[in-house]
Amino acid sequence: MNIVLPDHNLQALTFDNRFVKNLPADPIAENFRRQIKNSCYSRVQPTKVAAPELVAYSREVAALLNLTPKDCTSDLFTSLFSGNTLLKGMDPFAMCYGGHQFGSWSGQLGDGRAINLGESINREGKRWVLQLKGAGPTPYSRNADGLAVLRSSIREFLCSEAMHHLGIPTTRALSVTTTGELVTRDMFYDGHPKNEPGAVVCRVAPSFLRFGNYEILTARKEFSLLKQLVDYTIRTDFPHLGEISVATYLQWFEEVCRTTATMILHWMRVGFVHGVMNTDNMSILGLTIDYGPYGWLEGFETDWTPNTTDAQGRRYSYSNQPHIGQWNLIQLANSIYPLINASEPLQEALSFYTSSFQQGWNDMMAAKLGFNSFEQNTDDTIIKELVAILQLVETDMTIFFRNLSSVETDQELKKEGTLPSSLMEAYYKPEELTDDYRKRMAGWLKTYFNRLKQDSSDPNVRQQRMNSNNPKYVLRNYLAHLAIEKAEAGDPSEVINLLELLRKPYEEQPGKEHYAAKRPEWARNRPGCSMLSCSS
Ligand code: AMP
Ligand code: MG
Repeated sequence: MNIVLPDHNLQALTFDNRFVKNLPADPIAENFRRQIKNSCYSRVQPTKVAAPELVAYSREVAALLNLTPKDCTSDLFTSLFSGNTLLKGMDPFAMCYGGHQFGSWSGQLGDGRAINLGESINREGKRWVLQLKGAGPTPYSRNADGLAVLRSSIREFLCSEAMHHLGIPTTRALSVTTTGELVTRDMFYDGHPKNEPGAVVCRVAPSFLRFGNYEILTARKEFSLLKQLVDYTIRTDFPHLGEISVATYLQWFEEVCRTTATMILHWMRVGFVHGVMNTDNMSILGLTIDYGPYGWLEGFETDWTPNTTDAQGRRYSYSNQPHIGQWNLIQLANSIYPLINASEPLQEALSFYTSSFQQGWNDMMAAKLGFNSFEQNTDDTIIKELVAILQLVETDMTIFFRNLSSVETDQELKKEGTLPSSLMEAYYKPEELTDDYRKRMAGWLKTYFNRLKQDSSDPNVRQQRMNSNNPKYVLRNYLAHLAIEKAEAGDPSEVINLLELLRKPYEEQPGKEHYAAKRPEWARNRPGCSMLSCSS
């Protein structure tokens, strides 16, 4: 591996690899698949690739690392973030973790195709872990190849950045590069493998620790290592909690409950469905992590899941996400129990998740509807009735909420049986709107407008509040699909257009309205648009 000496911003990146310094390493240096006991990680080198090429980079993430657009378009950048070159101070490793997948314990999983390059400290003293996804096999790769394809890498890159700009806690993505090599994938596990372009994403986060990092240690009864990892986590990522004690462990768990609830509430607000909420995909920092078969609600079908593997059970459907968040937190509670030896305080923290989630849901829906604040007497009924109505006919969630802010209150309801024209844009099949439906929706709108009068807030202030909670532009499944098709044919321009569009999801962006339109009919059942799999 080349070690390059400093001579521009990339070479000036400074590393302080606390994780490897403070926690025990796998003593075996060879890179072969195995169970790794009594260790938190294994040192492993990225695999060199044939002909790396930059597809896109995020200038905001680059800025977090004090990198300029010039740095990002250099050959060195492409070489570094495809895994072909290492900088002085990088110390690559893959983490050991386990996880509950679809409700069952899976044992050791680990970074099977993710390699942490190191922890970079920027000029402001902020720490960012750089991680390559798809840079070759690691000891945790089990029976897979350690690689990633362009399709899923673009999806991860775009969605990480889109989520950030929506104000949702997430891991970030610095870059996506193609490797110049082909990777074989059977997208629907149905005996039709295809060669696809290989790619690497460079992800960036303060920490990539997951619930599964703690679970694996408890499952193996490695309790002193569990304590070491939890203490490390608190000192590194939760320093405000202070000196380590049993009380600190509980405060830490409570904070994880709170940040997890906040993250999932944001998902519900914008119609994001993660698709694989296994405990190895739950960040200890409450960040959205591991973008796989995720999707965005088009019609407000609350039991929708984009993940074909989950089509039967719908464990990870939109409306089940809050419950699964809690289920996953219970697994984390079980795994840290040996440090606490009492179940009551853990139960209390878990019930805090439920109550703070309910409160958060009420506040979030009140903000989406433009109320000054949630009023128990009236708003619970208003929200429940709306959620019920939106499911009666196929109604685009994003368009409905966005356009609700511009309805001229009751003016537009004067004529019996007519719904406001801006809301009509949200219906996929307007011909399905029966008289009963129209009456019910008009009734809801009347109650809603009366409720708004009660607030007597300035209509502009209300509209502003609604528009900052209801995005106009989200990464619609078919938009990502079209950008991927083009990039696979050698033209990444649509990836860059989407990245630009999604920087300002709450703004109107005149001239770009077509990106806010309903999903076209051709995309309804198209693989890659409405049907996705874990194969990536
Ligand atoms: P995921 O479903 O992406 O959360 O992955 C579950 C586990 O499988 C994690 O340990 C991943 O690192 C691993 N994994 C997924 N895809 C691959 C791959 N192509 N090569 C090696 N490991 C993989
Ligand atoms: Mg994962």
